Amino acid sequence: MQNIARRLLNLLTKNRRLTWRQWRNLLASATDEDRRYAKDLAGDITRSVFGRLVFYRGIIEFTNHCGNNCLYCGIRKGNTGLARYRLSERQILDACADGYALGVRTFVLQGGEDQWFTDARLEPLIKELRQHFPDAAITLSLGERSRESYQRLFAAGANRYLLRHETADPRHYRMLHAPKQSFWRRMNCLHMLREMGYQTGCGMMVGTPWQNVDSLAEDLAFIQDFRPQMVGIGPFLPHHATPFHNRPAGSAELTLFLLSLCRIMNPRVLLPATTALRTLLPNGLTRGLAAGCNVIMPHLTAPTAGYELYDGKPAVHDLHRELQAIKEELVAAGYALSSQRGDYMQEVQHKRHRKLHDGMQTVFIKTRAQA
Ligand code: SF4
Repeated sequence: MQNIARRLLNLLTKNRRLTWRQWRNLLASATDEDRRYAKDLAGDITRSVFGRLVFYRGIIEFTNHCGNNCLYCGIRKGNTGLARYRLSERQILDACADGYALGVRTFVLQGGEDQWFTDARLEPLIKELRQHFPDAAITLSLGERSRESYQRLFAAGANRYLLRHETADPRHYRMLHAPKQSFWRRMNCLHMLREMGYQTGCGMMVGTPWQNVDSLAEDLAFIQDFRPQMVGIGPFLPHHATPFHNRPAGSAELTLFLLSLCRIMNPRVLLPATTALRTLLPNGLTRGLAAGCNVIMPHLTAPTAGYELYDGKPAVHDLHRELQAIKEELVAAGYALSSQRGDYMQEVQHKRHRKLHDGMQTVFIKTRAQA
């Protein structure tokens, strides 16, 4: 007879959804063997949808100024010891041009909630990126903004928006954020973004203080109902200049399990093997891919040493070498980087693209066999 976790994993595979209580029971009862079973299910699903192709997004961390004080974040306003920077429009365009020349077709403009970057400053930048790189996707990760702002940036040419919900439990949210930050405002932003037509990404850290199976079950139930196109899940890693400096890092194994659950829940979701996972785990990229990830997000900008979200975050000095190392790691694990933008595929589109992926897969396997 199947144990509870195995039964719930099979039910999830069949229905793509569970109740909150079922999520909780699954998280509370899964053994190492059940997690391996989930990984195998997720791996099969990923390969059936995306083949062995991995999308890559180039991140431009263009400002480490932030007006917020999230208790876990190294670039929080309260960290007065951090040297702050803003990239100029020229530097951002150059970083994108470098990435584009190396095949990057998604640019992720990421920053803290920096009031200096008003709509009047961002609009022309996005328009210029759209004009220079018409076949590339522009993803924004700028935190909470007004409806009008999101609309203006979308109209200027942005396609996607990443805004981690961080926790779907309002009480837990209060424990991780400054009093002026609102759980409901964050949720409202996510709904606005998706309604406006952005491909929207949510997500959370694994192992933040006071997180438990109840709050993780809330996260999974929220992701299931919200149906985001992207989900970012990485382990919590402490930063020395935050109130959580002496808290333990999150579990890589639990992170991998949650990634597998997201893949089983939504076979077409875009799921990155995050930098935090790769920082915590030496083989985090290949373990992430085996667990259901299909996206990697290397940095395109050099001054990432100032974008210290957590301790140990790697700085990029040579983009070309970094990409080459990623490619080699992927090939060794039997994967290849895709040259497509990697938009979220609706069901009908997915069936059409399946044939294309199968064709590319065949070419890739033949190329490997000949190498
Ligand atoms: S997590 Fe984001 S909003 Fe919070 S302090 Fe860090 S950069 Fe600012």
